[in-house]
Amino acid sequence: MRGALHILATLRAAGFQAYVVGGSVRDRELGLEPQDHDIATDATPDRVLALFPKVIPTGVKHGTVTVIVEGVPYEVTTFRRDVECHGRHATVEHTTSLQEDLSRRDFTVNAMACDPETGQVIDPFGGREDLTRRVIRCVGDPPARFEEDHLRVLRAIRFAAQLDFEIEPATWAALLEKAPLLERISQERIAHELWGVLAGRAVWHGVRLLDQAGILARLLPELAATRGVTQPPRYHHLDVFEHTMLALQHAQDSTPDPVTRLAVLLHDIGKPATRSTDHEAIHFHGHEEVGARLVPDLVARLRLAASSRIHLDTKELTDRLQKLIRLHLRPSQLHGAKGGALRRFVREAGLLLDELLLVVLCDRLAHREPDIEALDRLKRDIAALGPASHIHQLRSPLSGHEIMRLLGLQPGKALGEAKDALVDAIVSGEVPDDREAAERWLLARFGRVVTPGVP
Ligand code: ATP
Ligand code: MG
Repeated sequence: MRGALHILATLRAAGFQAYVVGGSVRDRELGLEPQDHDIATDATPDRVLALFPKVIPTGVKHGTVTVIVEGVPYEVTTFRRDVECHGRHATVEHTTSLQEDLSRRDFTVNAMACDPETGQVIDPFGGREDLTRRVIRCVGDPPARFEEDHLRVLRAIRFAAQLDFEIEPATWAALLEKAPLLERISQERIAHELWGVLAGRAVWHGVRLLDQAGILARLLPELAATRGVTQPPRYHHLDVFEHTMLALQHAQDSTPDPVTRLAVLLHDIGKPATRSTDHEAIHFHGHEEVGARLVPDLVARLRLAASSRIHLDTKELTDRLQKLIRLHLRPSQLHGAKGGALRRFVREAGLLLDELLLVVLCDRLAHREPDIEALDRLKRDIAALGPASHIHQLRSPLSGHEIMRLLGLQPGKALGEAKDALVDAIVSGEVPDDREAAERWLLARFGRVVTPGVP
């Protein structure tokens, strides 16, 4: 905030208007810590550039420059007025009217400005009242606002999830009507808002709204396909979709991490394709594997790694989701196992162990009779492994080169297999973790390949 005050004072001393606007005014009124402070001014970008020593012309075309004060970046944007909007792009021009600038903002709670000198909040559209009522309401005529910029459909739901607000009835009616227009919006922009929903403190509410607006079925048909898929009544009182929603509700309370929450949302997407019945019994054999295999296409199609809200590339995100889905049944299959089987599980879960146990917890809590005790026991058993709970960091005591020389192998698949088998054997306690034991075990297990010409 100190930097923002400095920028405001500098602009005002030079004779310009300057206000804090948008999200930070909203968050402060709510008593939340604002993430960043956006500044709006009637100074044109070239004037702003000339006034501050450290500036980056980030979006001069759109009227935005980034001013750096004490290492913190602040966006300073010249007041704007829409000339033309086509749903995806707006043509804007500069204006000297704060009022005009606020009127082009999306929702009343985002259309307030704060005068730093008096502390007075400029609120022409009833944003403060809507904050008290906890509603998201369009500035102006809702259908027209969604026509102007289709992404606002998703932004309304994102803010409802982020703030735990309802959407005001007229805005909601227009949203339902205009939701299909989202098809025309780039997947990257959609993904950014989707992560906003997933990170929201009311993520469950947000996903419900996405569902009611028909957006969930378009974005995540894999999840929509779980609706109406019935499950064995002994364990489940809900169909797969409602079970998943209940699990998401638990995820909302247990973790702020949007990736883990997404994994909870996707953990059973393999069920529709694997459902089988015999003698009244319902099975979903291999659904965790089938579900994991749906992930690469889903992540690529939705461009999920393309948002600055997520700091993983496509491969990292895909791997993470796949692992969480693929292993979500493993704890139930361990049946109180100790020793080798448990260590192998810990190794397989690797650095995702905590997230995996969270997914498992949320899944279990959404069963007819949640068995949490078994999970607590598992956690205790893992903790009791002591340093072995760092098993995922275990490396082979012999390098690839050493194994090659020992077994007479060339680089390739056989070498990788030998190395993996060795680490497995150490993890499961079959072989002590030292070089000599490893050499003896490898020779006994694989023998030495004698290649002509290789000593
Ligand atoms: P957050 O805390 O999540 O960043 P924010 O309110 O700052 O919330 P941004 O998406 O960063 O949200 O947008 C900053 C401000 O710009 C908004 O508060 C709103 O006033 C305005 N704005 C952003 N996108 C739009 C849009 N599509 N249509 C109209 N106004 C918008
Ligand atoms: Mg913002």
